Amino acid sequence: MHKVVLACSLLVAFPCLAQMENISYESTEVAPGFYMTVGNNPDGPFGGGTSGFIVTDDYVALVDDGLAQPAPAMVAHIKEVAGKAPDFLVNTHYHGDHTGANALFAEEGTIVFAHHALRKRLLEKPESAGGDGGIPVVTFAEGVTFHMNDVEAEVIHLPEAHTDGDAIVVAKKANVIFAGDIVFNGVFPFIDLDGGGSVDGFIAAQKKIAEIADENTDIIPGHGELASLESMHKNIAMLVEGQKRVKKLVEAGMSEDEAVAANPLADFAGTFDWYFINAERMTRTFYKDLTGK
Ligand SMILES: [Zn+2]
Repeated sequence: MHKVVLACSLLVAFPCLAQMENISYESTEVAPGFYMTVGNNPDGPFGGGTSGFIVTDDYVALVDDGLAQPAPAMVAHIKEVAGKAPDFLVNTHYHGDHTGANALFAEEGTIVFAHHALRKRLLEKPESAGGDGGIPVVTFAEGVTFHMNDVEAEVIHLPEAHTDGDAIVVAKKANVIFAGDIVFNGVFPFIDLDGGGSVDGFIAAQKKIAEIADENTDIIPGHGELASLESMHKNIAMLVEGQKRVKKLVEAGMSEDEAVAANPLADFAGTFDWYFINAERMTRTFYKDLTGK
């Protein structure tokens, strides 16, 4: 029981679903030297956030690192596939399902990079980073660029989107984007309004990714299947339409519960519902964002 409670306390945004300690990791090479890594949880539906990494002749750079409980498995997995511990780690945002192995990677000599606001939030909740040792060492405002042999990977901050400290990583030549939780592909997203996120910023961030991408870009999401420009258009269309519908209910003077009862996202639910964000929770997010309540 104690272990389950601990797992819950590490998850800023996620309800307690199951044990996380038996999660194992699997990576897919989406382009030469570019990997997408997902966690498989034998004890429940949630395997943590999706991460990814880049392997060049001399460098390994990791983008996000999953939950704290299975961190030893994550470190072992990356070392095995990449051939060594990462030189660099970029956190896309502060949630514990993306930063939980920070401390263990830091012990391996990995330097952790993040937006200023992300570091501030992890300082308040270091357990999300696997402990004090997981606090980012290098921070940035607008972004930073990694020059690793023939790979140029640009880290770009997108303001007030999923949180206030979001960053994506864009590798133009390989045509790969690591989107973090700016992209919940094909499912209703969590937008952390209490963590500095906003619906408008989230939509703007998705549009920015769609603008950078072309029809061949591999977009590694924070949750969901590997995304493409086409899937981004679908995600954006749902958000824009959903926000518009809830806005009408707010303007009609409905309370939050009345708006939920009107079920404005009913036709999206079949496609976008998943085990922890359904049409009701998405409606409440739109409502709270529009009213500031
Ligand atoms: Zn998140």
